[in-house]
Amino acid sequence: MSKSIYEPLTESSAVALAVRLGIFPEGTPLTCREIGDGNLNLVFRIVDQRTGKGIVIKQALPYAKVVGESWPLTLKRAIIESNALRTFASYVPQYVPTVYYSDESLAITVMEDLSHLQIARKGLIEGKTFPLLSEHIGEFIAKTLFYTSDFGMNQQQKKQLVQQFVNPELCKITEDLVFTDPFFDHETNNFEPELRHDVEALWNDETLHLETAKLKRKFLTEADALIHGDLHTGSIFASDTETKIIDPEFAFYGPFGFDIGQFFANLLLNALSRKEHEQAPILYHIEKTWDVFSTVFSRLWEQHNVEPYAKTNGWLQDILHTIFVDAVGFAGCEVIRRTIGLAHVADLDGISDKQRRLEAKRRALQLGRALILHRYSLRSAQHILATFAQTS
Ligand code: ADP
Ligand code: MG
Ligand code: MG
Ligand code: MG
Repeated sequence: MSKSIYEPLTESSAVALAVRLGIFPEGTPLTCREIGDGNLNLVFRIVDQRTGKGIVIKQALPYAKVVGESWPLTLKRAIIESNALRTFASYVPQYVPTVYYSDESLAITVMEDLSHLQIARKGLIEGKTFPLLSEHIGEFIAKTLFYTSDFGMNQQQKKQLVQQFVNPELCKITEDLVFTDPFFDHETNNFEPELRHDVEALWNDETLHLETAKLKRKFLTEADALIHGDLHTGSIFASDTETKIIDPEFAFYGPFGFDIGQFFANLLLNALSRKEHEQAPILYHIEKTWDVFSTVFSRLWEQHNVEPYAKTNGWLQDILHTIFVDAVGFAGCEVIRRTIGLAHVADLDGISDKQRRLEAKRRALQLGRALILHRYSLRSAQHILATFAQTS
């Protein structure tokens, strides 16, 4: 096929493309709908009306719509996303959609239709618990981190992969929106006026600034492993039996603890939105994620570590401890930015009773701050839950 020129797809040109790619035979009765919910990308679902079987085409837009305005955003993130999904699939095919095709100039990924599953955030808000969610996410993170790190792959090849996943523009979004803006009086922030007093306390908290500066530096500099980079509960499709991770356009070589931290944070935000007697299954997921992650990572370390120092007493324990401490800190940043930064979560914003909503948001700010400041003294997932319980 000749090199394609970028143009945003429409429902009809998406169908034509799927036929041209030979995904459906000519003459198949197809329906197509744009189902994307984001501000950055188009997502088309194309279904064969006779069999009900479909595919999804995700296409990056050259700009991001943000509060009515738009800023240019590289199309390269589409090929990063396709390549990350393929790399993850080589280790854990059961946890990602199959990629059928990608085209860098069209900025598209053609992939498995996951419409039989539900976005985890939506389900969790409806009160579902997805009993296997943490087991699956723990295994997904352990395997993808280990096998793309200097412990699990050829260390020269790893440097090639680092180059393939250089993703400065998308990283900059995280550096600003997760690690910087919420901690200063910045125009991207967005919070209810009743919270101003609590928010200003964060902006004036020099100790908090010092600790977030350290976490931001880790994100800027540590190239441990290929991380997803946006692993919140809106990037996870789930059911009672299956889990699939989507949307790794922020993927890059980053610190081990980042994905775990974002996942923890979004579970905590959901728990904050629930009545106390409905929180247990969500808090269980935090413990279980860490339990499975550390067990699988340790097993891989013992069986497949390529690093000559692997058997050195204390090295694995030291790495696991650092991952945990960092994850707790990253979780704190994510909890805060989802409460007062540019991009909120429906878990909190959707609480209709204003007093309950404000109270949940105040608890979120208190929790985020405590996770960042006390991360070195939290030794286990149970300590995260204790910190959660202490916020009021
Ligand atoms: P964005 O980067 O814009 O957030 P996502 O990859 O998260 O895009 O996709 C946006 C939405 O499109 C998802 O929340 C989901 O509803 C739908 N979607 C994305 N990928 C698939 C898929 N493979 N199968 C079914 N629906 C999908
Ligand atoms: Mg989205
Ligand atoms: Mg998304
Ligand atoms: Mg995305």
